[in-house]
Amino acid sequence: MAPDQLNVVLLGAPGAGKGTQAERIVARYGLPHISTGDMLRAAVAQGTELGLAAKRSMDAGELVPDEVVVGIVRDRLADPDTGRGFLLDGFPRTLAQAERLDAMLAEEGRSITHVLLIEVPEDELVLRIAGRRSCTGCGKLYNVTFDPPREEGVCDVCGAPLFQRADDNEETVRNRLAVYRDQTAPLIDYYDAKGVLRKVSGGGKLPHEVFTQVAGVLGDA
Ligand code: AMP
Repeated sequence: MAPDQLNVVLLGAPGAGKGTQAERIVARYGLPHISTGDMLRAAVAQGTELGLAAKRSMDAGELVPDEVVVGIVRDRLADPDTGRGFLLDGFPRTLAQAERLDAMLAEEGRSITHVLLIEVPEDELVLRIAGRRSCTGCGKLYNVTFDPPREEGVCDVCGAPLFQRADDNEETVRNRLAVYRDQTAPLIDYYDAKGVLRKVSGGGKLPHEVFTQVAGVLGDA
C-alpha cells in the first residue's frame, strides 16, 4: 500500500458527531466522503429500487442488509478519486461488513489505515440527536441546542430551510442506539486488534475541540 494513503473509518454511536467531523476532515484532508446513510437517504428521496428496499429498515432504526450496503461501498471505492484515500462514515456497521471491506481493499493492495472512534456518553447522544437538523440545500449540519443557525430554521451558508431526519425521533433513536451496542460496538475490538483504532473524546466537547484531536491522529497530511 502506498504510505501516503489515508483510508479512514469514522466509528461512533448515532449522534456522536461523525457527520460533523466528516465535514471538517474532508475540508482539511481532501478525502472523498463516503456516507452510506447519505447515499441511502438519497436513494429513498429519488424513489429508486434500492431506496424502496432500504426505507423500511431505516424508518425503524434497523440496519439495511449487509449485501446492500457492501454493494454500494464496493461501487464507490472503485471510483478513481479514492486512490489517495477516503473517509467512510457509517460503514462498516457489522463485523460481516468490516470483513467484506477488508477483503475488497486487500484485493487492491489497500487497507484501512485509521479508525477514529468518537466516544460520547449515551444520555448526551439522545440530546444531541433530538436537536439535530440539516440543510435541505447544502447538507450542512446544525444542532438547535449546541450549534444553532443564526436564524432559526434557516441555513447560515445557503439560506435554504433546515429539516429534521425522519429517523431522529425518540423511539427510533433508542432502537438505533441498541443496534449500535449489539452490532457495531464489536468493531471496536476488531479494529483494536488490527492496531488501527484511535479513540477521540466527544463527550461535552464542541466540534472544533473534537477536530483538534482528530487532526492529532491523522497528522499534517
Ligand atoms: P446514518 O446516517 O449513518 O445514521 O444511517 C441512517 C440509517 O441508514 C441507519 O439507521 C441504517 O438504517 C442505514 N444504514 C446506514 N449505513 C448502514 C450500514 N453500514 N449498514 C446497514 N445500514 C446502514
